[in-house]
Amino acid sequence: MDCIFCKIIEGSIPSKKVLETDTVLAFHDIQPAAPVHILIIPKKHIATMNDVEREDLRLLGDIHHAAQQIAEQFGIKERGYRLINNCGPEGGQVVYHLHYHLLGGQKLGAIHH
Ligand code: AMP
Ligand code: ZN
Repeated sequence: MDCIFCKIIEGSIPSKKVLETDTVLAFHDIQPAAPVHILIIPKKHIATMNDVEREDLRLLGDIHHAAQQIAEQFGIKERGYRLINNCGPEGGQVVYHLHYHLLGGQKLGAIHH
């Protein structure tokens, strides 16, 4: 499959892994937008948030659980962080394999005015 994140999962494209379970993988974003910028993805190829089916809902919980653990691992659990999914063209999605950005390590800007 021509999916860059599937290639990261299978290991044919390298990544700096921070956490791996039977269902999810987390690794450093190649272009960090904050001191901590980790991508959390399901190992199952799901293109976007819109393609999540009922049978996949447990994966979303697994991703949130991974986020919690990674925040602890990077010492930002109490200071706070942001977990973001970009969906579709206007959401700014570039890679069409479901992923969540875990951002932290600095005071992040407001997303509303
Ligand atoms: P999005 O705009 O939500 O689709 O975000 C895609 C993210 O994937 C961007 O933040 C990229 O910097 C990141 N990215 C793209 N290729 C790689 C890669 N090979 N390893 C790590 N992160 C990547
Ligand atoms: Zn994929």
